[in-house]
Order: sequence, then C-alpha cells, then structure tokens
Amino acid sequence: MKLDDKLYLVRFNTDKQSHIKILDQEACLQCEDMACTRICPAHVYHWDEEVKRISVGYEGCLECGTCRVGCPDNIEWDYPRGGFGVSWKNG
Ligand code: SF4
Ligand code: SF4
Repeated sequence: MKLDDKLYLVRFNTDKQSHIKILDQEACLQCEDMACTRICPAHVYHWDEEVKRISVGYEGCLECGTCRVGCPDNIEWDYPRGGFGVSWKNG
C-alpha cells in the first residue's frame, strides 16, 4: 500500500489547542536547513515566506515523534490531549 493510501486511513479528532509549539521563531530565521520542513511525513511545518516564520499545521500530525528528534531545541511537542489526535479508520 502506498503512503498516500495509508494516510487516507488516518482519522483525526482535532483539538482546538495545538500540541506543537515553536519555542523561538527568531531561531528559525537563523536555521540553515529547516529540517522540520523536510522530515515531517505529514508536512506539518511550512516556511511562510510572507510572514517569515514557520507555520505549524498541527491538525495533520501523525504523532510519529520525528520532529522531536529533528529539532529538539526549538520544537516543543507533546501528545495531543486525551481523546484528541490520530485514530485509524479500520482499527
Ligand atoms: S523549528 Fe527547528 S528545524 Fe524548523 S526552522 Fe525552526 S529551528 Fe529550524
Ligand atoms: S510528530 Fe511526526 S507527524 Fe507530527 S509534526 Fe512531528 S514529524 Fe510531523
């Protein structure tokens, strides 16, 4: 099964409150590789050229934990609150 097909099986119960926080947007301006925009399989992080900051589409987070490892100093990530976040359509 292709990744896109698998992602179709993911269901979200979206919280209004983000479980992801960029601690220092100023640091992102100095960040050379912007790893967050590449390593997230759900493309949660996006460089917004207009406002010159990283935007975070936390609603699509797959809770894989990769960004925690990729940018441990500037991304604060926790599991969504109980009852929110990812569930699977067939499981
Ligand atoms: S969140 Fe981390 S990896 Fe992403 S641009 Fe900012 S400092 Fe760089
Ligand atoms: S936990 Fe995984 S899916 Fe969620 S924002 Fe981080 S890298 Fe993306």
